[in-house]
Amino acid sequence: MNEAKYELVCAGCGRRLPPSAQRCPDCHDALLRTDYAQRSFEPLEREDVFRFLPWLPLETPVDTPIAPAVYRSEKLADRLGLAQLWIGFNGYAPEVGARNATGTFKDFEALPTLLRLRERGISTAVLASVGNSARAFAHAAVSIGFPITIVVPESVLDRLWLPIPPTDDVRLIVLAGCNDYASAIRVAAELSRETNLPNEGGARNVARRDGMGTVMLEHARVTGALPQHYVQAVSSGTGGISAWEASMRLIADGRFGEELPKLHLAQNAPFNPIHDAWTHGREIRPEENIDGQLRSIDRIAADVLANRNPPFDLPGGVRNALEATDGRTYAVSNEEIAASQRLFEETEGIPIGPESGAALASLRQALEAKTIASRDSILLNITGNGDALLKRDFMLHAIEPWQTISPGEAEGDALRRWVDAAILSPASES
Ligand SMILES: *Cc1c(COP(=O)(O)O)cnc(C)c1O
Repeated sequence: MNEAKYELVCAGCGRRLPPSAQRCPDCHDALLRTDYAQRSFEPLEREDVFRFLPWLPLETPVDTPIAPAVYRSEKLADRLGLAQLWIGFNGYAPEVGARNATGTFKDFEALPTLLRLRERGISTAVLASVGNSARAFAHAAVSIGFPITIVVPESVLDRLWLPIPPTDDVRLIVLAGCNDYASAIRVAAELSRETNLPNEGGARNVARRDGMGTVMLEHARVTGALPQHYVQAVSSGTGGISAWEASMRLIADGRFGEELPKLHLAQNAPFNPIHDAWTHGREIRPEENIDGQLRSIDRIAADVLANRNPPFDLPGGVRNALEATDGRTYAVSNEEIAASQRLFEETEGIPIGPESGAALASLRQALEAKTIASRDSILLNITGNGDALLKRDFMLHAIEPWQTISPGEAEGDALRRWVDAAILSPASES
């Protein structure tokens, strides 16, 4: 590893740290950011996500179809009366140049993360997922032969497929009778503690964030500019942080002006802890909405957007990103999401997932509220489009569970005993 390619900088105190650092010794909570020696934006001559290798924290890319796709909208822009609407289509739709293997922008996080771990001498990892990142990490793991353990709630099992045959590199642990991401996070953290399997780090992982930031970089490559507005549906908000960080990098290049794109972050009501915290200037409340409604995952159409504990109030987190960019948040209803999914398919001709529908619904709210003007330049991040087009073009293979853990085993001592029995003892091979 060429240590000179980048350093890490603490978003809290600015202290510089080596690429191997996990946390700042002074500001334990703060996110660390990459600071690349190369200041100018110089994409490479290749078609995939690694065209942005100078600003990704790894040395040796692999060939992959995965790449951000940004194009100018005509029909949807017309319908909304917009002069400059750019669509970042980060799913699978070869008709617009989008070839993400598992159908969402999580593909930008997974492959750089596993390549970076491998370059740093780490040979396996564990993560929790609600589905889209499980697919993306499973695909990356199988593609490069890097073994990982993924913990998922049972409710997402039917979404766990790959367009290539799964291999032993993916160990899927299923939480029986569970539909909540928080439990998966807890079990993954416990596994990682008990077994010393490295946890891939979620929002703390710079390869994830810089991978997602390539959507903003692709916009700059295609248009030669930063957009005035960046619109995305969020769960953890990591994509928003990433867009902000990529924009700062482009501004430091000098050719992209000095104005940060404003972040417009959408959540699906009533599961909108980021929207409540931002609009009411308070801390994240994981369980209850501002008007007392429970944040129930059963009530939202975009059920991927259900992170209860987003990286909000830490240095370099979502609140800082919204402050720095004069951003806004939105809560959109299931009905608004469905209407926006229909509008997108009608105008752009491609079906999109409910999360992308939530992003479009928030853009419509912003136009209504005039927080975005019709002449402004906008980058709308279509973060995923489900499996319809993948099914058309590929045979999809289910990822089978490796272990199933019952709800009673997922707490405290019982969980530790389960981890011992299932993972540590060699007799437990299944
Ligand atoms: C994960 C995900 C999001 C939200 O991502 P953040 O990590 O909150 O930025 C949005 N859309 C899709 C399709 C996703 O998979």
